[in-house]
Amino acid sequence: MTIPLDFLTRYAIPLVVATLFLGDVDIPQQFSIFDKTQRLSDEVLSKAMGEGEGPPESFDYIIVGGGSAGAILANRLTASGENRVLLLEAGGDPNPILDVPFAQRFYWDSEMDWNYTTVKQNRSCHLFGGNCIWPRGKALGGSSSVNGLVYNRCKPKDYDSWANFTGDQSWSWANVKDTFNRIEDYHGFHEETAGANHGYGGEMYVGKIDYLPGVEVVEEVLREKNIPIGDLNGGDEFTYGFSKIDYNIKDGMRCGTYQAFLEPILNRTNLVIYRYAYAIRVETVASGEDSHRAIGITYERHGAIRTALAQKEVILSAGVVESPKLLMLSGIGPKEHLDELNITTIVDLPVGKYLQEHPGMDVIGDKGGFTLNTTFGSNFNTSDALLQFLENGTGPMNGFLYDSGEYAPQLVNGYLNSKLNDDEAWPDVYMYIHEKLTTSPEVREEMYFSLELVRPDSPGGTIKLASSDPKDKPIIDPNFFEDLNDIERMVDVIEIMMDVFMNSTTFKKYGIQQMDSYEPCNGEEFLSRDYFRCLVQQRSFPYFHPTSTSRMGPNSTVAVVDSKLKVFGVENLRVIDASSIPFVPSGNTNLPSMLVGARGAEIILAGE
Ligand SMILES: Cc1cc2nc3c(=O)[nH]c(=O)nc-3n(C[C@H](O)[C@H](O)[C@H](O)COP(=O)(O)OP(=O)(O)OC[C@H]3O[C@@H](n4cnc5c(N)ncnc54)[C@H](O)[C@@H]3O)c2cc1C
Repeated sequence: MTIPLDFLTRYAIPLVVATLFLGDVDIPQQFSIFDKTQRLSDEVLSKAMGEGEGPPESFDYIIVGGGSAGAILANRLTASGENRVLLLEAGGDPNPILDVPFAQRFYWDSEMDWNYTTVKQNRSCHLFGGNCIWPRGKALGGSSSVNGLVYNRCKPKDYDSWANFTGDQSWSWANVKDTFNRIEDYHGFHEETAGANHGYGGEMYVGKIDYLPGVEVVEEVLREKNIPIGDLNGGDEFTYGFSKIDYNIKDGMRCGTYQAFLEPILNRTNLVIYRYAYAIRVETVASGEDSHRAIGITYERHGAIRTALAQKEVILSAGVVESPKLLMLSGIGPKEHLDELNITTIVDLPVGKYLQEHPGMDVIGDKGGFTLNTTFGSNFNTSDALLQFLENGTGPMNGFLYDSGEYAPQLVNGYLNSKLNDDEAWPDVYMYIHEKLTTSPEVREEMYFSLELVRPDSPGGTIKLASSDPKDKPIIDPNFFEDLNDIERMVDVIEIMMDVFMNSTTFKKYGIQQMDSYEPCNGEEFLSRDYFRCLVQQRSFPYFHPTSTSRMGPNSTVAVVDSKLKVFGVENLRVIDASSIPFVPSGNTNLPSMLVGARGAEIILAGE
């Protein structure tokens, strides 16, 4: 066996080094010298801008945040060489250990996470004591440097709803499809049928995981239950059903937006990247009686405060939490809320309102999942598996660790409709089926499913400032299940899946059984509808797909940016990231966020 040298230098050695030193690789964020409570006074500002160091730096564009959207923007805006761009990123380079999807568990609680939690929830996250975890990536590549890499364009009707809400048909599926095609290079499971539903030759690699033990049996069960199997990203041709999962993984390695869009262009001289640079406010000037213009960004880096100026535009791509936080710290937000914090409002906009997210849960992992009397999988934790992975990036280690650190590959993902959903082509519940081979105390094959509600009836939640101090974490409240129909939608689909698992001849052939250990829930009868209602509230937590806190829309009463992603009432300022999405899409949100980045760049370069 030979392990290619480039593989060793690029991945294996960093993997070992990063494992040894994980936790020491990032420079801690520090806040020291700026006035914590007030808008920077002119005096402070002019000192920060020039004292002893000559005039402030000036660029054509300043992008805050090099994540899923920001990385594409930085790439596209610097491509012609005409624009000089500053990219400010609060984190550093992504830790190379996370290039290996299998090592994703090192992300949790690391310095690559913003470590947010929500306020106490009444109807979700009971397992976490009511305060849900709220992970967000902090590094170049943003959340795409830490995420699960599932490739999902979401449903055509998601984009049509954006177009209808904004009144701008350029956001319709028919129009955004080409933008998607331009950014990707498709090598997934569905190449034979891919056609116009996928793109080739773009920067973002779409690949597959080769190790899916038991997937044929799952597909047989789905066919038996008349649930369609196809390409989840097949556009209008695929309404609901399941699919083998495509991932942004190339040769066993992560292909996030850092690897796809930033790493290859680090030598562009017109792109300046400041890592560990934490933006603290947008600087604006009055440009008329009632209008304002963004002129730059003030940021903190290694303990010093600086302001950089933007000749053309300031673009916030800091994600669903930090973009609205920055706007509000800059006096752009709901006046009522800003008044409470003594922040002078320059434009009254519904910033931080309309937060949407998918509540999701496992049913039910190590408690109450299903066992089979055969083994599909093999032990992933062996030297053979490691060598196979190091040699060519395949095998049991080519995937993710799920379920409390155990290996539980996602075999298929898919969509089902609850009884309350009247549009089959726009399903309300998104799911995965997992396989898990447990080896202790005995070797045992298990299966379970997870689901997330992707088209909630609940109005959503909010992000608010805790104070006017930029270093304080904001108050995040997803407010799940305010509308109780949302619980019914999840329970409907749990019942469909219980039938799939327990009442198929195929699974019966493999001796499928509900596991004997189960999670009690409020004394409800096990497997009754009330039991599942209780379980949904006990186990659901945010499934990593928040959007819409600076959403685009038709006017400043219901939206923060217009359909060209420009902030209402402030010239030269745009928000381009998941926060500008009008309604949470019905699936994983990396691709939709990248789409917003790619469309944003197209719009800017077209001079719109
Ligand atoms: C754990 C996890 C798993 C996920 N799994 C999947 C998946 O499998 N598939 C999928 O499609 N989606 C997944 N997602 C969701 C997806 O990754 C996000 O929706 C998407 O990355 C959001 O893109 P964004 O550009 O809005 O923000 P981000 O990618 O989060 O980028 C924001 C960037 O801004 C930086 N920043 C923030 N504030 C400041 C500041 N003040 N100054 C300077 N820089 C700042 C951040 O550090 C970050 O780099 C997952 C997300 C997480 C967290």
